[in-house]
Amino acid sequence: MRDELLDLTLAQGFDRAQWIDGDQIVLDRSFRSHCASNACGLYGRCYMCPPDVGEIDALMAELRRYRCGILYQSVFPLEDSFDFEGMQAGGQMHSARSYALDGMLKNAGYTGFLHLTKGGCGLCVVCAKTQGKPCRFQEKALSSLEAYGVNVSATAKNAGLPYIAGANTVTYFGLILFKENALCRD
Ligand code: SF4
Repeated sequence: MRDELLDLTLAQGFDRAQWIDGDQIVLDRSFRSHCASNACGLYGRCYMCPPDVGEIDALMAELRRYRCGILYQSVFPLEDSFDFEGMQAGGQMHSARSYALDGMLKNAGYTGFLHLTKGGCGLCVVCAKTQGKPCRFQEKALSSLEAYGVNVSATAKNAGLPYIAGANTVTYFGLILFKENALCRD
């Protein structure tokens, strides 16, 4: 079953994926202050981002209720380190893969998992939050690893995945978490 889920993940086009035990996922509440610095411009402008997505300690506690997961990544080539269009295009592709994976899992009958991907929900061109309207796809929208306090570089290291894939590349991560005994080791 673990192999099947790993294959299903990689079949969405991700470059690498590895199972990771829950206690190997590194959490750090200081990531909330990174979000609050609003370098990405989404703080307070997306329901799936802080502060709207929830209080950091509550989200970290929620994540800790899951016992294992699959950490996956997409790597995209860039023209150079200032290739912001390339980064944006890669980010959109990664999000599309994450949503495809999410749909596949639900169609395959998996329930009760927690799925996190790159920052920014990515489902709508402009989040309804900025228009004072309710979320358009509440059941579908995914939050980010950072919003839940995941230290992605330390967690990637624990999973045996590279955090940076080389010069002139950009890497995005996602994580699907499960509670089931059949999937998670003791
Ligand atoms: S689905 Fe649309 S409205 Fe809902 S959080 Fe995502 S971008 Fe915002």
